[in-house]
Amino acid sequence: MSINPQNNPEKNKNMKTIFADAQTRLNEVFKHVDLTDDVEEKLKHPKLSLSVSIPMRMDDGSLKVFTGYRVQFDDTRGPTKGGIRYHPDVSLDEVTSLSFWMTIKCAVMDLPFGGAKGGIIVNPKDLSRLELERLSRGYIREIADIVGPKRDIPAPDVYTNSTIMGWMADEYAQIKREQLPGVITGKPVYLNGSLGRVAATGRGALYVLQQWVKRNNLQPAEMTLAVQGFGNAGYHFARLAREAGFKFVAIADSKGAIYSEEGLEPEKVMEHKEEHKDIKTMMYCDGSVCDFQRYQKISMEELLGLDVDVLVLAALENQVHKENADRIKAKLVLEIANGPVTSEADAILKKNYVTVLPDVLVNAGGVTVSYFEWVQNRGGLYWEESEVNDRLKNKIDREAKAIFDLAEEKQISLRTAAYLIGVQRIAGAITEKGTKEYFQNG
Ligand code: GLU
Repeated sequence: MSINPQNNPEKNKNMKTIFADAQTRLNEVFKHVDLTDDVEEKLKHPKLSLSVSIPMRMDDGSLKVFTGYRVQFDDTRGPTKGGIRYHPDVSLDEVTSLSFWMTIKCAVMDLPFGGAKGGIIVNPKDLSRLELERLSRGYIREIADIVGPKRDIPAPDVYTNSTIMGWMADEYAQIKREQLPGVITGKPVYLNGSLGRVAATGRGALYVLQQWVKRNNLQPAEMTLAVQGFGNAGYHFARLAREAGFKFVAIADSKGAIYSEEGLEPEKVMEHKEEHKDIKTMMYCDGSVCDFQRYQKISMEELLGLDVDVLVLAALENQVHKENADRIKAKLVLEIANGPVTSEADAILKKNYVTVLPDVLVNAGGVTVSYFEWVQNRGGLYWEESEVNDRLKNKIDREAKAIFDLAEEKQISLRTAAYLIGVQRIAGAITEKGTKEYFQNG
């Protein structure tokens, strides 16, 4: 185990790091509000970056060592919070950026949390179910010293799910020799998880879209949507949004995209995707939306350039960048993934009058219901699903309205407005702990 508090996110060959790009959003914020320099200085550096080697016995008896990370970005407002990602492209740079976004997101939603993120460099589809369990338990053993219900609370992210969170909570309880379900959220409902958590990210995104639609006097039935990414968040969003009257003309997963002018039924597409899978781990499917024969296959670039009302980005970061941003014809981009639009692409979209509903608001439903799960775990009293959903709606509606109002009042982008609100809350907490001005004047 190595702890490197300085954490220099590794440089992606010739490319600006994701973290450097993520940080440029703060420059925009600091132009609009006069904050103590302490805030700027503090938000440049992750508080703790841990990189671990996880030795794992494979099914064939061989030993393989996997690399994992956990980065706690800032804990000024409370214990750090954020998911764990399993992906072959995980890097310290990516995890650091994601932990930064979690810090902003928790502040935007006014949750009593700072931000963190974790990840393992692995393609989970290559592992058997037992290997996946051993790896997940191994990861928690390596990071057990820095997590805890009052310190840092992980959750699911890309290619992790409730089963994996259940294994991790169980491993943590064995290490600590006591039941501490609040150490992790997004657990199965049978293992102290919260009702409503699985669909929460998609549901929250729908609430944000509905608010926007209402505010701008748009009609869902007249709107067409294309969605890139058909994982947990993308699927539940599509399912709920169709129920709410929106029409989906294109859906893409990592393998390909399909298009239908008459509209797609997200549930049917998912059924098909699941039916045609070749189950390796029983948790990840090899099927793909592009096996859905009845519809026209299109490329990912074609999907991004479709003339739809809303382009929903629910896959990974950096999907819309300076090379392809000009091709976007949608009037509205809904960021369900974390960081799907780069800062350079932001400027191009703005020039082309494309409105972006930002990730730190749009996908915050997941961490908000994670917060509810943590509250229920600590209180020992469990809520009905309707209570979870009502509380989520109240929170999202309130914060979305504040962001929309501020953007209008200051004539700034919705992203800058969201960051402004979040950063001011973080700044408030930093200031209360004492700043340069306080100590110099005192
Ligand atoms: N991974 C999700 C996110 O990026 C959820 C995090 C959480 O629930 O803590 O927001």
